[in-house]
Order: sequence, then structure tokens, then C-alpha cells
Amino acid sequence: MTTSSLSHHLLNWFENHARTLPWRSAPAGQRPAYEVWISEMMLQQTQVSSVIPYFERWMKCFPDLESLAKADFDDILKLWEGLGYYRRARLLYACAQELAQKYQGNFPQSYHELIKLPGLGPYSAAAVAALAFNETVIAIDGNVKRVSSRLFCLEVVDPKEIAEKLLKELPLDKAGLFNEALIELGALVCNPKHPSCDSCPVKAHCTAFQTDRVDSFPKVIPKKPVPKIERYALIYQTKSHIWLRKRPTDELLGGLWGFVLSEALAKEVSSADLPPVKHAYTHFKIRVKPLMVTMPPPDSEPIALEKLKTLALSKLDRKILAGLAALGSV
Ligand code: SF4
Repeated sequence: MTTSSLSHHLLNWFENHARTLPWRSAPAGQRPAYEVWISEMMLQQTQVSSVIPYFERWMKCFPDLESLAKADFDDILKLWEGLGYYRRARLLYACAQELAQKYQGNFPQSYHELIKLPGLGPYSAAAVAALAFNETVIAIDGNVKRVSSRLFCLEVVDPKEIAEKLLKELPLDKAGLFNEALIELGALVCNPKHPSCDSCPVKAHCTAFQTDRVDSFPKVIPKKPVPKIERYALIYQTKSHIWLRKRPTDELLGGLWGFVLSEALAKEVSSADLPPVKHAYTHFKIRVKPLMVTMPPPDSEPIALEKLKTLALSKLDRKILAGLAALGSV
């Protein structure tokens, strides 16, 4: 088979099997850059099924760059609430403002310009360049790394080497489609644990499959154990208000409201029969013991209970609130 037959089979398969997703309003290569950018930022570290409702709500509130650049950041955080990795929301906002101020509210159309923008790294800049502007680049995410490592039997997953190999296969006028098809293949067929090689459209080109070594690629790197930390959440409330702190932007979960967390057991504890709450972040796991205290914790301010729904809170804080709700406290 010739090299071009890989892309022929891949694109043919994609035409028949691509999922219908809300951010695929136009074929890859001709899609609005705003749509590509928002969906790619939301999809980082997050499952497609979780992103769909967030993307749909987002587009209703901020349908274009202009509306996003003019938005109040608290409203952005509220829409992002629950998606995690809140830094992405801050970078989106910073990028929208930079585009409004320096680029007359438009996206630059080349990878080299896109990668200079806040929050756009090699993957997302290439994704926007290819999926919106059909630029001949390869967007290398986890899916593409895995598929390439199997296609070419690569033990070391080097993005430069992957890009060189894939660029040889890429049809010049279909860069967007080729990129999206490859990512889709990784998501639907060449998945991490049980790739469906028998029904794979590129099995004839796959070195790992042809040499019966699919299980050996990509090489598994053992994960480092994640540190576990313990904190107390200091809860002070009256019948109508609860005391929360708005976390500074340079802290974890910056910009979000939440309970004051303390390493030490507070002295002014009134009762302590709330169940502990656990949450896992990428770099650590946290176990929080909620404590009812008898005076407002430092840096906190009173929030009317009926206003709680309108504030952006992290999942951890929502879990603590759920514990309080179970006691009939909020
Ligand atoms: Fe992945 Fe199997 Fe297809 Fe190779 S043949 S690309 S390992 S699904």
C-alpha cells in the first residue's frame, strides 16, 4: 500500500463514523476558530461527554469572542464551575482580551501567531490552525501520540518525530479533516486498553498490528504516587448567611469562592459531626474534615444562603455544602 492510502482509509472511515458533536458545526478545516478554541480548551483533561453540556451553555452565554472579551470574569467562572482546571478559564479570558485589543477581535490564522496567545500551547494552537484554517500542521494530543506510537512502533513518543511521520501522510488540502480523523480514531478505535484492531481502517498500515505487538505500544510509564493532604474546612453560619472566602487568583482554585481551609484544628469548634469530604486533583488528593466553628474564619465574608447557587464554587466546596444540606443546615 502507498502512504496516501493510509489517509484515504482514515478519511473514508471518518466520513462514516465521526461523532456528531456540538462543536462540529462545520467540517474540520472550515470551522469557526472560536468554536474550535473553546471546545479544545474545555476538552483538555476532560471527557467529551462531560464537556458537551458546558459547551452548549457557554455558546448561549458567550456566542463569540466579543461577548467573551466583555464578560465579567465571575460569570465565566460560574459557567466553568465543575469543569475543573480553573486556570483554563482565566487563560481563555486573557486570550479573548488580547485578541480584542491586538487583533481587532479576530484569531490570527497561522500556528506561529496562535501559539503566542495566552493559554495556547503546541497542541491547541495546532488544533485551531488545522481545524479552523486548514493549515498543514499536526495537532498532537494523547490520542495522536498513542495511535502514532502503534502505527510506527515508537517506544519514545517524541512529538517532533510523530509530526514528521504524519506530515508525510497528510493530504495538503485536508489538514483539518486528517487531524480530526486521527484524534477520532484514537478516541473510538485505537483506545488505550482495548484497541479494536480488527475493525480499524488503518490496520494495513499499522506496524504494531502487522507485527503482533500492539500490547507493547505505547510503552507504559509507571505513575508516581500522588501526595495526599488533609485539611479542616472552617464552617461558620447563621440562619441566613454562611461565611466563605474568595480565593486569590494565585492560589489553587483561584477566583472561586470556598470554605476557609486550615491545616490546624481550629480552637473555636462547636460541633464536628460532619462526614469528611475527599477530592482528587491531578497532582494531589485532599481529604477535608468540615468543622463548625463559633466565629467567622479569617478572610471570609458573609454570603446570603440564597446567593450560594449564583457563586462559582469548586467541586470540593459543593461536596461540603451537600454534607451541610444533608444535615438541613443550608
Ligand atoms: Fe490502533 Fe490497532 Fe488500528 Fe493499529 S490496528 S492503529 S493498534 S486500532
